[in-house]
Amino acid sequence: MPVVAIDGPAGSGKSTVARAVAERLGVAYLDTGAMYRSVSFAALRDGVDPADGEALAKLAGNLDIGLGERVLVDGIDATAAIRGADVTAIVSTVSAHPAVRADMVRRQREWAAEHGGGVAEGRDIGTVVFPDADVKVFLTASEEERARRRQRDDRAPDVNAVAADLARRDALDSNRATSPLVAADDAVVIDTTGRTVDDVVDQIVGMLT
Ligand code: C5P
Repeated sequence: MPVVAIDGPAGSGKSTVARAVAERLGVAYLDTGAMYRSVSFAALRDGVDPADGEALAKLAGNLDIGLGERVLVDGIDATAAIRGADVTAIVSTVSAHPAVRADMVRRQREWAAEHGGGVAEGRDIGTVVFPDADVKVFLTASEEERARRRQRDDRAPDVNAVAADLARRDALDSNRATSPLVAADDAVVIDTTGRTVDDVVDQIVGMLT
């Protein structure tokens, strides 16, 4: 079951690169951030406190998350909503709860078993979800470049506000007790600053052969 694990902070180029690697290899692609965002979306929908781990775990356990071209949460198209500012504001708090993570990790492993492997991206893929992945990559980029990419993707007006939000989420994701954002010991760290997507994809695909 060949798995390519791609981790890194927001704006490091993870999603773009992971999608392209999966396409190049003709294998399945899993955006695990979309899963934590879906739980956060449902918490807002149901008025569940992002600090209440027990209530969130219950919510997550009963949640139907459909990941494909569109993201369906309990059958409702939430593709745009899960990228909204209100979801982004709480997702790092929601994802810090161990019971929420346990549920998502179980689903991610089921996904790999169903698809016979694939490319998965997130924060803890190489460290926790698939510690035996065939290829582990940790993407980074300079703070300026990460903020610029996010500003462009989100069409946000203020690059400084984007940079502050990235820094806030990085701090929460890196300092949490359960599955913090960290490169696995055996991950290859790739700095994507100033590099094209194709160039980075070539390097990762080359690691498989
Ligand atoms: O990748 P994306 O920016 O969409 O992830 C949103 C948030 O989901 C991250 O900031 C992090 O808090 C959480 N996340 C996580 N573990 C993953 C993927 C995402 O904790 N594997």
